[in-house]
Amino acid sequence: MRAAVLPAVGAPLEIVERPIPQPGPGQARVRIEACGVCGSDLFLQRGGFGADKLPCVPGHEAAGVVDAVGEGVRAVAPGDQVAIYYIENAPGAPRPNLGPAVVRMGVDVDGAFAEYVVRPVETLIRPPAPIDPVTLAVLTDAVATPYHALVAIARVQPGETVLVLGVGGIGSNAVQLAKGLGARVIAVGRKPEKLALARELGADEALTLEEARALFAAEGAGPDVVVQCGASAALDRAAIELAGYAARVVLVGTTTEAFEARAREFVWKELQVLGSRGFTAQDIAAVVELALAGHVRTDHLTRRTRPLEEANLALEELARGEVLRSVIVP
Ligand SMILES: [Zn+2]
Repeated sequence: MRAAVLPAVGAPLEIVERPIPQPGPGQARVRIEACGVCGSDLFLQRGGFGADKLPCVPGHEAAGVVDAVGEGVRAVAPGDQVAIYYIENAPGAPRPNLGPAVVRMGVDVDGAFAEYVVRPVETLIRPPAPIDPVTLAVLTDAVATPYHALVAIARVQPGETVLVLGVGGIGSNAVQLAKGLGARVIAVGRKPEKLALARELGADEALTLEEARALFAAEGAGPDVVVQCGASAALDRAAIELAGYAARVVLVGTTTEAFEARAREFVWKELQVLGSRGFTAQDIAAVVELALAGHVRTDHLTRRTRPLEEANLALEELARGEVLRSVIVP
């Protein structure tokens, strides 16, 4: 089979030939139909995390069809469509997405920038009805990540004001999901086309950071929830500053840069600052249901597909901010 290997930090992907992996007991082999290219693939390439894991085949936002199963497997059968949850974890882990034993597909083990992967069957989610594979792939991260942040971490309630910072692959979907939860949604971005997208996806207001600052000052109250989706210390800082009294600030975007804050800022407003790390298999199942019911749009994520051979182009166009997602169709 063909796979795209990231050999080292800062290096381009290399297309290599590998033997097709064989599923062992409790495992299934998935023929990859689609795999999203995401900011964390860029972060990996730039050395933001996982440098000690290279070389590795990236790719953690994937969907496909079960092609073979190992001994004792009953939960899935060849021909089943599946979404892949990229994490395997040890029993007793604090949460499915956390803990010292987390094994991440696309970092700790080879991922889905390849024609096939072998996965433990517990990490496979069968959609309740057939769904376009490119859509299914992007649901597993670009939509499941903000779902986790809004539902599991921030516990957004109808009528609350939610401020979404950064209208990228994650933030755009935070906008539509928060709207679906009954919130008033203010989106903040820089580029006019991203602000237009945020409005299309249901934002009540789509503003620059300065405009949002002015809006909350005029209203005399900050947002109940801030979802910080940008990989930017300046936006981390803005999230703390703009948050309203008793607000929850959820940090989703990841940067290695530090930002400054003072204890008084948290105390004065009784701020809760919460981290939201990825998502769980349960979140994937939930967003697949939402998509099948027509409550979530994905067309803004699925416009650009590329064959595996063009994986480097996909990373480059994401780095230049030209697309919210490219999807590799091996
Ligand atoms: Zn990702």
